[in-house]
Amino acid sequence: MLNILFAAKSEKWTEYEAPLKEAFAAHGLEVTLSTDMAADVVDYIIYAPNSGLDDFTPFTHCKAVLNLWAGVEDVVGNPTLTMPLARMVDPGLTEGMVEYVTGHVLRHHLGMDAHITNPDRAWIDTPPPLARDRKVAILGLGALGSACASALAALNFDVHGWSRSAKDVTGVTCHAGDAGLMSAVDGAHFIVLLMPLTPETENLISTDVMCRFAPGACLINPGRGPLIDDEALLAALDTGEVAHATLDVFRTEPLPPEHPFWSDPKITVTPHIASTTRPASAARTIAANIAGHERGEPLRNLVDRGKGY
Ligand code: NAP
Repeated sequence: MLNILFAAKSEKWTEYEAPLKEAFAAHGLEVTLSTDMAADVVDYIIYAPNSGLDDFTPFTHCKAVLNLWAGVEDVVGNPTLTMPLARMVDPGLTEGMVEYVTGHVLRHHLGMDAHITNPDRAWIDTPPPLARDRKVAILGLGALGSACASALAALNFDVHGWSRSAKDVTGVTCHAGDAGLMSAVDGAHFIVLLMPLTPETENLISTDVMCRFAPGACLINPGRGPLIDDEALLAALDTGEVAHATLDVFRTEPLPPEHPFWSDPKITVTPHIASTTRPASAARTIAANIAGHERGEPLRNLVDRGKGY
């Protein structure tokens, strides 16, 4: 019998209780799954960083913490979290992100706004270019970035990806390391940010990086708000160097009503909805990870504390 603590906001328990019980049963695991149990009997914690739990010291027998989110920046530096930490890689989360990124790239590529908002009934008969003539840079080629890169490559975009370590993604020109960043973004029409937030990636999108984009590029950020130097972005939008930014994530969330991003016609704000962990598929992922770990397999999607993601 395994004791599994579910530490997340109460509405998440309503969503997750049944799928988790079903998924553990499918793996033949006998579990006590609860939002409240004595800390010293807990074997695993299913965890959301906004749960209020931030002292892991009492969980003396806990074998691992399984994060419900892909991003771990709010928990990775917690000194009391000495047990292994797994982040969320969920097929539902990936599918949602592919749809968001593909949709927003296509919106700008096809110039849809000019036709949707056309109060003067202007006959704008310039056809859009073909995807094969447009460069897309996906910064971050992990679980989400590589899936988005593949989907855009399947639509014939000239897709370039960038990661810390070298990658091989079919149909995608892959760049790596500090030296690879500028090659990835050089002349890119669409730049998509899917990196984690770490000390190395904070403010990565600076004036120096944006001035390498194709003139009138579109920036799409479903990664994390602080990846972008906000002042530099506003300046690049003012000069037209960047034509539009679609931003899903922000330094402060919810984005305060008085924030200049809301009123800038060159910015589309989406309220951190690019993708979300889906209980049915995430429950299967968590149960499979715990079942494998109980059989002696290494924990999947383990966070590297040194790298911060
Ligand atoms: P992941 O699998 O860990 O991939 C991260 C990618 O970023 C990897 O390719 C990694 O390179 C690269 N990277 C990290 N630091 C780098 C650096 N300093 N230089 C170059 N490349 C670097 O993460 P994921 O699951 O794809 O998720 C990415 C992020 O999306 C999450 O951290 C989260 O912030 C965000 N997210 C947002 C939403 C939303 O709704 N808006 C939903 C889910 C996730 P290596 O492959 O070489 O390690």
